[in-house]
Amino acid sequence: MRVIRTEAELREEAARLGRAAGVGGVLVPTMGALHAGHAALVRRGGELARELGHGSLRAGCVVSIFVNPTQFNQASDYNRYPRTLDADLEICEAAGAETVFAPEERDVYPSGGSVEVPPLPEVATEPGLEDRFRPGHFAGVCQVVMRLFRLLGPDVAVFGEKDWQQLQVVSAMTREASLPIRIVAHPTLRDPDRLAMSSRNRFLSAAEREAALAIPRALAAARSVSNAPQAERRMLDVLGTGLRVEYAVVRDAVSLRDRPASSGGRALIAAWAGGTRLIDNGPWT
Ligand code: AMP
Repeated sequence: MRVIRTEAELREEAARLGRAAGVGGVLVPTMGALHAGHAALVRRGGELARELGHGSLRAGCVVSIFVNPTQFNQASDYNRYPRTLDADLEICEAAGAETVFAPEERDVYPSGGSVEVPPLPEVATEPGLEDRFRPGHFAGVCQVVMRLFRLLGPDVAVFGEKDWQQLQVVSAMTREASLPIRIVAHPTLRDPDRLAMSSRNRFLSAAEREAALAIPRALAAARSVSNAPQAERRMLDVLGTGLRVEYAVVRDAVSLRDRPASSGGRALIAAWAGGTRLIDNGPWT
């Protein structure tokens, strides 16, 4: 497995592959603090890379690890975000990544240089979900994803369904900018108690984790209610008072704006367990 730390090393790798720029292949963007959910994305990335036929002119599965400051809307969240590069490299290697791109901030955002800020698609500004509760978040996500796409030039990029609105935002941004990159979604991995795996789960006390289990329960309960407003009320009932709920809604799965009539929807929840913000989602009917 190759570990690339700088833009200069990236250029060398492109030259080694016989390319003018970028390394191609399948990109799995992450912020590190990797867990089994990320490892599943990397394994899927490896399969997709084999389908593409890597070898000459193309890297295989490339994992990027970069805690992107511009997508955090609270400095405290950015500062306490776990950084575990040595363990992350082991997970990438075990999951079969060919390359890890783990740049410093100066390579992603060169001082004095201006980094492209792509126009935000509607799904990043209109739904009133993450866009409302984390102002500026998707501007940062689009900025870093576009920068990684420009630097690495992937053929395919894999994103988790865990961050459903992000998946729709990146898909729309890629489509609207006519980038020749296929976006592949990967299902959410869960712990045996059904809590969605997340790098932030390590901050939960035993009592907070117990309270957080209401989130997957509420998503499951919503599925058995075929009327969207009733499904939302059901989720709030199940969520109870142990969490501070920001939203618990049923929306069209792609635009995330309107409630679906009876199918093709997604149930989405954001809630705080103590000082830790959790998000999760699941199919609706
Ligand atoms: P992160 O570094 O955690 O922000 O996420 C990196 C990628 O992993 C994103 O595409 C996430 O949606 C995805 N991801 C995070 N948690 C999970 C999970 N539990 N299952 C599947 N994918 C996940």
